[in-house]
Amino acid sequence: MKILAVNAGSSSLKFQLLNMPEETEITSGLVERIGYDNAVFVIKVNGQKVSKEQTILDHKVAVELVIKGLIENKIIDSLDEIKGVGHRVVQGGEIFKDSVVITDQVIKDIESLNDLAPLHNPANITGIKAFQAILPNVIQVAVFDTTFHQTMKEDAYLYSAPYEWYTKYGVRKYGFHGTSHQFVSQRAMELLDNPKAKIIVAHLGNGASLCAVDSGKSVDTSMGLTPLDGIPMGTRSGSIDPSVLMLVSQKENRSYADVLDDLNKRSGYLGVSGISNDSRDIVDNMNEGHKRATLAYKIQIKRIADFIGSYYVYMGGLDAICFTAGIGENAPIVRNDVIEAIKVLGAKIDPVENQKRGEHLISSKDSKIKVFVIPTNEEVMIAREVMRLNK
Ligand code: ADP
Repeated sequence: MKILAVNAGSSSLKFQLLNMPEETEITSGLVERIGYDNAVFVIKVNGQKVSKEQTILDHKVAVELVIKGLIENKIIDSLDEIKGVGHRVVQGGEIFKDSVVITDQVIKDIESLNDLAPLHNPANITGIKAFQAILPNVIQVAVFDTTFHQTMKEDAYLYSAPYEWYTKYGVRKYGFHGTSHQFVSQRAMELLDNPKAKIIVAHLGNGASLCAVDSGKSVDTSMGLTPLDGIPMGTRSGSIDPSVLMLVSQKENRSYADVLDDLNKRSGYLGVSGISNDSRDIVDNMNEGHKRATLAYKIQIKRIADFIGSYYVYMGGLDAICFTAGIGENAPIVRNDVIEAIKVLGAKIDPVENQKRGEHLISSKDSKIKVFVIPTNEEVMIAREVMRLNK
């Protein structure tokens, strides 16, 4: 059965067509710069990327193009072959404790959360509506970045701030990357053959977060009200004393929103190093002795170790740490240095295994904690959710 997994941004739309339940990719692609004259549509045909630049007015046109591309390239013969569409939705608030079949009410509920994710949720809705218009009889499912973390207890998700902020405005930690944390922790439980395992997933990409998973449930995570919180990332600061906002806005005569933009877009690797948001550039420059690149790198490793230590204590032990996403899957040096930073917990890496690619165990035989690399696959997770709800 063919299922489409969709991730719609404000000016982009990524898609992957999967064969389910085999969980194999049939094709994938994206539309970028929607709304502009020089929009680009990219689709994989027989493993080769084919791209075309053209004017794409809006998401509806983008979706029409995707469907036309699937048919013209003989990836599908007709629309009827698509049996379900799963949409990534960033913010599900406290309303959505699970993925959900999309109805008019669900769309209204997602819209009611726009204040919590002003950049993401409206874009996700645009994508949903575009697919509804073109595939009106096909089941559409919303899969939220936040639902996996809805199992956190109050002591983990509440900020120590006026309680009314929570009751009136929904100020609390929601956490993100939920589909990835769920996918990776489920796989780790299989590899450990232990459904009660205590696991930390380190999703280290351009955006990065950690998640503590006990018996398959998220019990804590590093991102908060927004994806700015937690560990330092490519361009985001991670957790920071909010007083910084006041000081910098006064000194530079800028608004809070403007300074917040610096914390989202000009901090992390980029802000500290002054060079790049890309971990490869940071590591290359560090190896050549660049002082601020080294500092950017070291700050991130320390903060990751801080979170792992705190989750170790919170869960009362740890069976496995799993590295995933762009950096976690591809940067042995980062994995090595994180494990080195927490060696007091008894975790040890096998330097030979650590250099290998793909899913594998990288801890040494005498390590007290198993360390895995598990490539994430958010699209498969989304397609699984469509299958589960399409009964
Ligand atoms: P996101 O989905 O958050 O945009 P990704 O998971 O794609 O991010 O990860 C992007 C990060 O992965 C970048 O910082 C990039 O440097 C890093 N990365 C990708 N490939 C490699 C590699 N071969 N070695 C080291 N880092 C890599």
